[in-house]
Amino acid sequence: MSSNLIAVRMPVLWGRGKGLLGELQDAAVFQARNGAAYNPPAGPPPAYPVIANGATTAQREQARAEHSIDVKYWTTAEHGRRIAVNIGSAALEPFVYAELDDPDEGLDDVNISDLYDHVMDRFAKISQTEIDDNLAEFNKGIDPSRTLAVYTRKQELCQEIASDAGVEITESSMVTTGTKHAVAAGGMEEAWKSWMRTATPLRTWPNWKTHWTNAFQEKRELIKLTGSAFNGMANSAQEEEIGTKMVDALDNLANAAVQRNDTFEQLVKSNQTLTNTISSQQTEIKRLLAIVTALSTGKQPQQQPIEGGGASEVWDPLGYCWWHGFKVKHGHTSGTCDKGKKDVANYNLHKDAKRGDEQGGCTWNSNWKAK
Ligand SMILES: [Zn+2]
Repeated sequence: MSSNLIAVRMPVLWGRGKGLLGELQDAAVFQARNGAAYNPPAGPPPAYPVIANGATTAQREQARAEHSIDVKYWTTAEHGRRIAVNIGSAALEPFVYAELDDPDEGLDDVNISDLYDHVMDRFAKISQTEIDDNLAEFNKGIDPSRTLAVYTRKQELCQEIASDAGVEITESSMVTTGTKHAVAAGGMEEAWKSWMRTATPLRTWPNWKTHWTNAFQEKRELIKLTGSAFNGMANSAQEEEIGTKMVDALDNLANAAVQRNDTFEQLVKSNQTLTNTISSQQTEIKRLLAIVTALSTGKQPQQQPIEGGGASEVWDPLGYCWWHGFKVKHGHTSGTCDKGKKDVANYNLHKDAKRGDEQGGCTWNSNWKAK
């Protein structure tokens, strides 16, 4: 119930940062804890904004805006109060709240604290075990990895339970226990010194909360920067987890580097293949160009040896033609050469020319050797 009431957003001047908790909590306790009294407006805001005669347009706007904010908070508070009472009463048997239930108004006039007091007066009996448990809870220290509000709420709840049980935890006990717990969290020497320099009357619970909330906040910021810990007790699990994550990250980096090397090798390989292809294609193009050029100028292309084979099954290693030289196909001789047959005068003179008896004929491919 308290958490729900705290969760209602109300102006700080009204709820002192605790929402509607003041509706439920004892006024003196509220003031002691929050350094100021719960301060709701005396009554609902007027139906219309109060606008002074001769107000400027800006002042009118301002008055209207403020009025609408007042109305919003008042309505929220009314809803909060009614919902809290309804939740509380729904948890009870009808005869329990019959005493409070007005025949005309129902529960509309009942405040949260009325209902709470009523219930506590008649039914709340807190056992010794519960009191002991509560004290044990009260003496549990601070978890410095969490915001100090977790601790202060716990202490206040314990104080409240103790109070309901009739065993008061005094404000000075709250303060001294809290200080002990803060110091035990470790690394708080400076904050402790400055707290001890605070004048004794000012060592109130609200001041304690402010002082130590700041101190723990600073310490947490420092830890974020330095990676050190509270007294060596904090977050060794977290540190281990971070360590594991770093190892994983480094593994991934290493994998990426290795893969990159692989990729690089692949690139080099395919680059080499490309170079080879281009080079063989350039050779082929050159050969084809030579043929084209030869054809276009009416000359026979000079036969280039074809890479990768003497093709002796095609080329005659012992062949010769007076018109075509030393590299001729099987069956191609000075006597069978078509070109020679058209060159009748030379044909008659040289149709028997052959290797070793070239008769001054063509010398193309004189160095060619069949492989
Ligand atoms: Zn020939």
